[in-house]
Amino acid sequence: AQYSSGVRKVTLIPGHGIGPEITVAVQKIFEAAKVPIEWDEVDVTAVRGPDGKMGIPQKAIDSVNANKIGLKGPLMTPVGKGYRSLNLALRKEFDLYANVRPCKSMEGIKTLYDNVDVVTIRENTEGEYSGIEHEIVDGVVQSIKLITEEASMRVAEFAFVFAKENKRKKVTAVHKANIMRMSDGLFLRCCRDVATKYPDIKFEERYLDTVCLNMVQDPAKFDVLVMPNLYGDIMSDLCSGLVGGLGLTPSGNIGKNGALFESVHGTAPAIAGKDLANPTALLLSGVMMLRHLNLHNEAQKIQQACFRVLREGRVLTPDLGGNGTCSGFTAEIIKYLDEPE
Ligand code: ATP
Ligand code: MG
Repeated sequence: AQYSSGVRKVTLIPGHGIGPEITVAVQKIFEAAKVPIEWDEVDVTAVRGPDGKMGIPQKAIDSVNANKIGLKGPLMTPVGKGYRSLNLALRKEFDLYANVRPCKSMEGIKTLYDNVDVVTIRENTEGEYSGIEHEIVDGVVQSIKLITEEASMRVAEFAFVFAKENKRKKVTAVHKANIMRMSDGLFLRCCRDVATKYPDIKFEERYLDTVCLNMVQDPAKFDVLVMPNLYGDIMSDLCSGLVGGLGLTPSGNIGKNGALFESVHGTAPAIAGKDLANPTALLLSGVMMLRHLNLHNEAQKIQQACFRVLREGRVLTPDLGGNGTCSGFTAEIIKYLDEPE
């Protein structure tokens, strides 16, 4: 196996705003669940690099390179000249090519739907995010959407492997190949190619607009979705909304040589330091990470305890309509860790 038994070292990036407090919550729960990992905590506040640009400190990069796996809270990228998005920089640095966001309805979380169980898989390195933009003449700018066979093949392959390993039945490729014939056309062809190697998994191709329409009409129509970068950005937030929002949904960024799991919500500066943040998204990202490390028993135990606290609804943070605290919610989860339902 890729991961030997014994204690695994994992890079921990608490991040900014509410990041540190939700990180402490996760650490406490993992410790109580006796998860065999050791945290290697690093700060990723931007520093000025040799090129004069602000970026991720070398120490953080070295840690992820050494450990190959990390858990990360929300990061704040200061607005202003010379700053690059730290999230984007991490993605680039570690070539995290697939973003995975499972969105499953949770009992006790009231939303418009109660039967959502979809996983969005987003190409994470190119497409509309290639960063190639220029002004042709005054008043005319051009932005390049870059699609390559290599990146499309690896994300398509990842989607089918994910579907197979997680016993999912269908993969939907989401595209606009009717309009972007060449770029989305290539992406789609790659998905088709890979699909032929997985005859047990149903494959379908759907236009992005049709998927949006059908997703809000009947989310149960969908299973695993794979798509280029920008469509994935939008669809993944849409699907999060179907199950209760960004404070609850986990995510993973998978690369060739490692993986970084993260909560997708922001730093929520208005409530930072007040013990009011909801740690669920980061905790469930940690659970995804444990599954990636083949620590299935620990993952299951923690997820069950978390779902139980959400379902019972006695101790909930204000974003879920409760009047509990982050630490109170955390203590409640710990209480249920070893308690069979
Ligand atoms: P940033 O500027 O870093 O994006 P943000 O506050 O805009 O920070 P978002 O994720 O966009 O972060 O969240 C919008 C709002 O949703 C937050 O201001 C906060 O009120 C709420 N929120 C997000 N995540 C959480 C959380 N984990 N717990 C509680 N409230 C949250
Ligand atoms: Mg925001």
